[in-house]
Amino acid sequence: MSETTSREQRLERILEISRELTSTTALEPLLHKIVDVSAEVTGSEAASILLLDVRSGELRFRAESGDPSGLLDIPVPVDDSIAGAVLISGEPYVLSDTSADPRHYDAVGEQVGLQTRSLLAVPLQIKERRIGVLEAINKEEGNAFGQEDIEVLTALAAQAAVSIESARLVEALREAYERLGKLDQLKSDFIAIASHELRTPLSLILLYAAVLQEQLGEEAGQQLEAVLRAANHLKDIIGTMLNLRFLETGQMDVISTLFDLRTVIQEACKDNGPIAESNGVLLGTDLPDDEVPVQADKEKMRVVLDNLISNAIKFTPANGRVEVTLCGRGDEVEIVVSDTGIGIPQEELERIFDRFYQVEDHMIRRHGGMGLGLAIVKGLVELHGGRVWAESASGQGSRFVVVLPAQQASPSAMSD
Ligand code: ADP
Repeated sequence: MSETTSREQRLERILEISRELTSTTALEPLLHKIVDVSAEVTGSEAASILLLDVRSGELRFRAESGDPSGLLDIPVPVDDSIAGAVLISGEPYVLSDTSADPRHYDAVGEQVGLQTRSLLAVPLQIKERRIGVLEAINKEEGNAFGQEDIEVLTALAAQAAVSIESARLVEALREAYERLGKLDQLKSDFIAIASHELRTPLSLILLYAAVLQEQLGEEAGQQLEAVLRAANHLKDIIGTMLNLRFLETGQMDVISTLFDLRTVIQEACKDNGPIAESNGVLLGTDLPDDEVPVQADKEKMRVVLDNLISNAIKFTPANGRVEVTLCGRGDEVEIVVSDTGIGIPQEELERIFDRFYQVEDHMIRRHGGMGLGLAIVKGLVELHGGRVWAESASGQGSRFVVVLPAQQASPSAMSD
């Protein structure tokens, strides 16, 4: 085989390897692949990788072809080692006889039972930034490393450095994701415990306040009325927390009946009327003349509507309007809750459906709430095979659209 053909073949092999390297995103297997391939393309007995630990400023042996355990992690001084010199200079280094350079550091060779005779070291570099050193050890058949080996290993190192960097990024992302998952679990556990623990004492407060009110009659007065109102508000909050918990754990049962969706909208608007009125907001509906049958869980639809309507009222200043419209569209029905309130910035329109997400910072917000309502709305609508989204331009009011599967049914089968 001519020398040119062999060189071409080696470069071709590197191209092939590049593709393999970019598809390996786990760091340890990637490092081992790199050392195996480095030994192969340079015709060496072994190869190793040293990576710079940016925090300690040390170089560390991370992989050696003679060590398949993957547990290698040996520090090497940057100041007084061959690898350190390559890292600092950025130049390849060839050593034909290791006994000729006192800087040769053989702790790894000793560990994996390999005696180094000759060595070729090239920097692992991404643009100007050096992240480590790649070494080929003991050219086969007692030969010395030549110019071609330097070129081939340098080409491989360029590709390897990029792959190592992206594998590290993927690993960092994976770790961050896992940490987030744990935090999320803590939050869910907290909700479960808090809602459960609050429920029992609250039931007692509600019970005794109601008994007292009945016993005292007229004398109960406004104070007791206020206690009952506050306790009922707390009950709603706990109900929200429990709803979320059930949705998350898949323990939410759907009790499906056939009913006219107009009636639930009318009831929700009637019950939210007083609060709209006290906020100076006009609450109206635009409903079809004909029945709109749906097969769904009526109570849960009520929760959806209550959340959307109470949000619309909450985020609409005095003299504004909130309107609930309903219309059928083929085999779907569409509910729209629109308001003339503060609106939602475009980039927040999807995130508002995330749990605990609120556009305004919680610490400075003027409006109450836990940021759970829309997460529950989305969960409940999707549980019914529907979809929900928000449309808005900041300062121009908001529209929340809920689309549900329609039910073509005979009106006689419908419950009230
Ligand atoms: P909460 O209302 O308890 O904060 P939600 O999950 O119901 O939680 O809503 C999340 C966030 O979405 C709200 O904090 C608010 O920033 C925004 N939002 C919801 N509905 C409206 C609306 N009609 N107009 C403006 N912003 C809204």
